[in-house]
Amino acid sequence: MPTKFPTALDALQHVWGYAAFRSLQAQAIDHVVAGGDALVLMPTGGGKSLCFQIPALLRDGVGIVVSPLIALMQDQVAALRELGIRAAFLNSTLDAAEARAVQRAARMGELDLLYMAPERLLGESGMALLDDLRIALFAIDEAHCVSQWGHDFRPEYGQLSVLRERWPAVPRVALTATADAPTRHEINQRLLQDGAEFVSSFDRPNIRYRVVEKRDGRAQLLQFIRSEHPRDCGVVYCLSRNTVEEVAQMLASHDLRALPYHAGLPSATRAAHLRRFLDEDGIVMVATIAFGMGIDKPDVRFVAHLDMPKSIEGYFQETGRAGRDGLPAQAWMAYGLQDVVQQRRLIDLSDADEAYKRLSTAKLDAMLALAEAADCRRVRLLGYFGEISTPCGNCDNCLNPPQLIDATESAQKLLSAVYRCRQSSGTSFAASHIIDVLRGKRTDKTERHSHHALSTFGIGADLSETDWRLLLRQLVAQRYVEVDATQFNVLHLTEASRAVLKGTQRITLKHREPGAERKRRASNGSTASSGTRLTMQSLSSADAELFAHLRTWRAATAKEHGVPAYVVFPDATLQAIALARPDSLDALRGISGVGDKKRDTYGPALLEVIAQRA
Ligand code: ADP
Ligand code: ZN
Repeated sequence: MPTKFPTALDALQHVWGYAAFRSLQAQAIDHVVAGGDALVLMPTGGGKSLCFQIPALLRDGVGIVVSPLIALMQDQVAALRELGIRAAFLNSTLDAAEARAVQRAARMGELDLLYMAPERLLGESGMALLDDLRIALFAIDEAHCVSQWGHDFRPEYGQLSVLRERWPAVPRVALTATADAPTRHEINQRLLQDGAEFVSSFDRPNIRYRVVEKRDGRAQLLQFIRSEHPRDCGVVYCLSRNTVEEVAQMLASHDLRALPYHAGLPSATRAAHLRRFLDEDGIVMVATIAFGMGIDKPDVRFVAHLDMPKSIEGYFQETGRAGRDGLPAQAWMAYGLQDVVQQRRLIDLSDADEAYKRLSTAKLDAMLALAEAADCRRVRLLGYFGEISTPCGNCDNCLNPPQLIDATESAQKLLSAVYRCRQSSGTSFAASHIIDVLRGKRTDKTERHSHHALSTFGIGADLSETDWRLLLRQLVAQRYVEVDATQFNVLHLTEASRAVLKGTQRITLKHREPGAERKRRASNGSTASSGTRLTMQSLSSADAELFAHLRTWRAATAKEHGVPAYVVFPDATLQAIALARPDSLDALRGISGVGDKKRDTYGPALLEVIAQRA
């Protein structure tokens, strides 16, 4: 941007068209503009980018942005150019001539921001280039990649300490959406120098958290998408590549626009699917966790988990990809006994050292407690990150509190059955057999082992098989029973079982009437349905019609400019335009998300669309 701005607020209003800073943005920006190092920790969608983009505009020289997200750099740079910012990127997707052109522009002082892949920056020509430049700041995006403990560890990130050694006077901003205290410390130590920490609340109030009992997970998923998000963009996370493929196919066979994404697909297919997800409306991406880091598509209306993530950090990061635009969105997870067994097994069978296994187990237990919770999920989620809050009113447990039932006696029956079967046969049994014994069901196996003669045979006929599985899952999650994944999932008692058998440890079970939440929503006029439809309801029919026309205009314009639709304007801005119906370029100025450059570029066309519908 050739003309520099007198203040940060000036830049915010003229370039981005936003009225005011969000909490902590202004402080972080002032700190960096003054030359200080900063660690910016905000949830996805919190507004981290401005914390380095604005200082880069206000300080002399070019801002160097280090990011591992090569596939997304092009969109990020395109979005900045739409705002009139002189941005470019250097990574392996450019050919030699393109790279030379970018380097030349940088040396001529014609760039405000230059995005670089870390390996590019650390290479010889990268270092030589930086030596020639006047550098405004270094921004290190996804800074948690520096942590060897995290699942996004990138070895090149460790080498970024060279920035501090070689350019001690240039401020550095490290940004991330996920960092616990040790990771924060690691980031500060490796990348910064006495970095000031700017940590915002991690609450994402527009996301509704829901966990459902997994019965037939895939059928439940289909039902969820069809009934609540039939035309919405979403992400479905699965643990394995196979499941990803199968679920994507299943959804596609029911006429949903679903695409698979995992590291085993050819990179061209992966890139094509990512492109469609970003450019088109209403794509459901079915993916492993290989998908998502840095995806800044604002209108993802739901994130669904068919398999439970292995930690709260993972869950928070993945669900955080929903609703970046601040409109209502849902985080939905189907959770069952198999999730507990599978995740524990992954830890047991991994060849990591004991310390790492202990850490992983602690993280998994915290995730299990969240999945099993009968109280506000947001309170627990935020509590995990050290934030204290009150019940949110926007999670399943707040909206439809489960009934709590004392299940100590049933738990004792179950534990006794595990014990008696083993005692009588000298070997352990899996859940289905134990449940048959409890319910007094004669099978080949009960006959063969003469288990119908046990005192526990048939003492649990009052509960259904589903209820027993529910109880068992809770006992396993809380370690009153162990599932031996190396031995056909047979059940063992644990040290802790004794307290339950003796009655000194009570067991409560939560019970939710199936479908109750849906009925409730239907009866009170629904606050839960799809975000887009929800906000559409608040537009009058004439405004909604104009909004639809503006979206059509946007799709055509985005295609013409070769950028994703949301880069032209996000939904929220188009809705504001539909409501305000500005009749002059001046009137467009007041609308959030319309900066000077976009007003000049798109203003006349927008006014025409509005005038035609007046
Ligand atoms: P993050 O990088 O933290 O995930 P972004 O920087 O992409 O988040 O910001 C998320 C969204 O919020 C973007 O659409 C951004 O333009 C918008 N945004 C950021 N700061 C503000 C603000 N002060 N006022 C209005 N919108 C903002
Ligand atoms: Zn809640």
